Amino acid sequence: MNTDTNNTVWNRDRTVQDFSVPLDYSRMMQCIDLFIERYPFLSVTSAGTSLYGKTIPMLRLGNEKCGRTVVYVGAHHGMEWLTSAILLRFVNEYCEYYREKRRIYSINPEYLFRSRLICVIPMLNPDGVDIQIHGTDASPIPDRLKMMNGGSSDFTKWQANGRGVDLNHNYDAGFAAYKPIERDAGITGGAPTRYSGEYPESEPEVGMLANYLRFDESVRMILTLHTQGEEIYYTTDGTCPDKAKSIARTLSQISGYTLSVPEGMASYGGLTDWAIGTLGIPSFTIECGKGENPLPVSAFYSVYSKLREMLFTAPILI
Ligand SMILES: [Zn+2]
Repeated sequence: MNTDTNNTVWNRDRTVQDFSVPLDYSRMMQCIDLFIERYPFLSVTSAGTSLYGKTIPMLRLGNEKCGRTVVYVGAHHGMEWLTSAILLRFVNEYCEYYREKRRIYSINPEYLFRSRLICVIPMLNPDGVDIQIHGTDASPIPDRLKMMNGGSSDFTKWQANGRGVDLNHNYDAGFAAYKPIERDAGITGGAPTRYSGEYPESEPEVGMLANYLRFDESVRMILTLHTQGEEIYYTTDGTCPDKAKSIARTLSQISGYTLSVPEGMASYGGLTDWAIGTLGIPSFTIECGKGENPLPVSAFYSVYSKLREMLFTAPILI
């Protein structure tokens, strides 16, 4: 790591970047700029715009015409930016192996590139991540935000987006059934966590991702990264097709993570359930690492090393 005149944390002398400070939006964008400069085969597009106007990048690796797309999504939740770091590191390594034509986990990177398209959205909730790291300085509505945070200036447990909606409760999956549960938990509006919003897909971050997934028929599988628990959630209602079950087992074997079915409040309004129920495609929630959220950046490498093989291997399972 170095701090050069551009105030970046990225080391231009290294081929593979390390993570030693929390990954906020601007650091992520600097890292992506470095990738764009280095890897002409990497395509970066916008997946939409956050509530505060930040462009949400999507990194596309592989053959656009192969018809087999896998989507990786990180940081639905503010204090889970470690998942953004994991996905950036994966993209970084993929690009290096591909450029050097070196095999990884017996996968030929040229085959992987030719036959699959991996779309990576490292940080779906950039506003929430910046609030978690920088507090109200990261928000145009500091007073309202503080109110939603119970009057506290401590935003280290902030999960929601820029107006207090928990993005992983904002999908159209059991949304109405969740409302009374939410009320019973004392949540009636914008909050640091678990408020589902006024209606499904009310939030721009969720609306744009749901639209993309609805209209891109080449998407075959979704992996959504959260922290923490070292678990893989794969279904809630028994409609998960057999193929998804067998993929889930393989992902579990590769990572050593436990297979689980979500229960309680976690099981409503999330991307995984929505994708299984609405799109009918295999979709998995990966709870990365173990400890108390927010996992510290010092946990990065140990968490990443357990997930690395899964991220490289998952696309060829479909
Ligand atoms: Zn989460």
